[in-house]
Amino acid sequence: MAWFKKTRRPMASQTAEKPSRVPEGLWVKCPDCSQPVYKPDLESNLSVCPKCAHHFRMSATARLASLFDGGRYTEHCTNLRSNDPLEFSDTKPYRDRLEKAIEATGMNDSVVVASGTLDGIDVVIAAMEYAFIGGSMGVVAGEKLTRAVELALERRHPVIIVSCSGGARMMEGALSLMQMAKVCAALARLDRARLPYISILTDPTTGGVTASFAMLGDLNIAEPKALIGFAGPRVIEQTIRQKLPEGFQRSEFLAEHGMLDLVVDRRDLKATVARSLRFMGAELVPERAPVRTARALTPSSS
Ligand SMILES: [Zn+2]
Repeated sequence: MAWFKKTRRPMASQTAEKPSRVPEGLWVKCPDCSQPVYKPDLESNLSVCPKCAHHFRMSATARLASLFDGGRYTEHCTNLRSNDPLEFSDTKPYRDRLEKAIEATGMNDSVVVASGTLDGIDVVIAAMEYAFIGGSMGVVAGEKLTRAVELALERRHPVIIVSCSGGARMMEGALSLMQMAKVCAALARLDRARLPYISILTDPTTGGVTASFAMLGDLNIAEPKALIGFAGPRVIEQTIRQKLPEGFQRSEFLAEHGMLDLVVDRRDLKATVARSLRFMGAELVPERAPVRTARALTPSSS
């Protein structure tokens, strides 16, 4: 028997009953400067805090819209879906997890492949969606990234991959690890065809994605303060038994230590990518390339 017993119902707090006059989700609190930010302001500012320039995470579709001219692009390979090759189950079946993610994001997997123009330059961009099982790379993601590179090869366009991923997808085991080699092999073909590849690393880019294509760009550009690494800091600390330095695995630290080429504010990203592509000679119109070869084959004396 309890010593103290509440005979009356506890007083309900007034705030809980009174409905808020501010519509739900109109303001967000910036995790960096703790200031309230008006959501439409945030969206018009490419999800960058107007007060402290904290970069909020961006969806794959918003990312593509921010990079392509006028937000217009053509999406490719939309019908690919994982068929749960290992029939994996942890706390719940992978099949259910997939279905839930497809329903929540309206996408079939964690990569969106699109083509269009970026500042007048024809490009193929693949963007990763973190909301889809942590942006993890399974068989479908690997296949889509490979097809993106192959599409670029066929059209002789540069490739841009925007990474935002926790790494390889555990639920597809070794099959997801094989995607690292597969995407890298496709990128090697792109390199041999002398076409540029720019890798954009956003918060977070970790695991198998960092360990493969995300670090292979002709230019590796990261967004400010993005978490980029292979294993997490705790695992590293336990392995090397040393305290890790301040800012370890953040973009600025990595750029300082030669792991990245540039750290660019999201609002300058499109201009930086366009400038870099021009520098790499990306404005070569596809029609011109065969003409040049034909001329080179014709003897100049005739
Ligand atoms: Zn802020």
